[in-house]
Amino acid sequence: MNKQCLLCNNSILNSISLEFILSLKKQQVDYICKQCQRRFILIKHDDFCNYCGRLGKFKLNTCGDCNQWNQKGWSWFTCRSIYSYNDFMSTYMKKYKFNGDYYLRKVFSKQFFDKLNQKECLVPIPISKTTMHKRRFNQVHGLMENLKFQDVLLVDKQKNTQSHHNKKQRMAMQQIFSIDDRYMHLIVGKNVTIVDDVYTTGTTIRLAAAILKENGAKSVSGFTLAR
Ligand SMILES: [Zn+2]
Ligand SMILES: [Zn+2]
Repeated sequence: MNKQCLLCNNSILNSISLEFILSLKKQQVDYICKQCQRRFILIKHDDFCNYCGRLGKFKLNTCGDCNQWNQKGWSWFTCRSIYSYNDFMSTYMKKYKFNGDYYLRKVFSKQFFDKLNQKECLVPIPISKTTMHKRRFNQVHGLMENLKFQDVLLVDKQKNTQSHHNKKQRMAMQQIFSIDDRYMHLIVGKNVTIVDDVYTTGTTIRLAAAILKENGAKSVSGFTLAR
């Protein structure tokens, strides 16, 4: 069976063994070739920040970013990512998001299905109305295509730019998310996992976590494709 790699267009050769045919297992579909697969760097569970999940060796397994967040008054936040963000991932993201190639969700949606705990309430990061208008899809929804998720979060809240005196007020004013009242019951007392494509500065996911916590979620953690 010959197929083309969605990323480099080289053909993917799938050799099926007799043993496999006899096992009656459904063949796993590959969307990208082995060479492209190797260019994505998996975060293996040995050297990484215990909080944000970033790949590397850190003192007390806590990276500088996470220490800084804590010093700024934010509570510790745990997030896990499948891959380390590199140039190849950045190219993938450009093709998927900015060129709007929705089919590219297939490259990772199986891994999302395998790795996310479906007993938890899975909440994708929403995109703004402007982005939706341009892109026509939420890239996180695409990656979660095989999962049941809840669109609890709303974005587009007007940012208040006035200066505020104390830390708590400033944090509240940065908030860009709100909760869709219709789905409030889905998060109260529940373990929630926020799902995003890339963990960049960590601001977005922390703001989302803060509002979910304030509205009664029992625990909130994060999951992203890349960090
Ligand atoms: Zn390829
Ligand atoms: Zn960290």
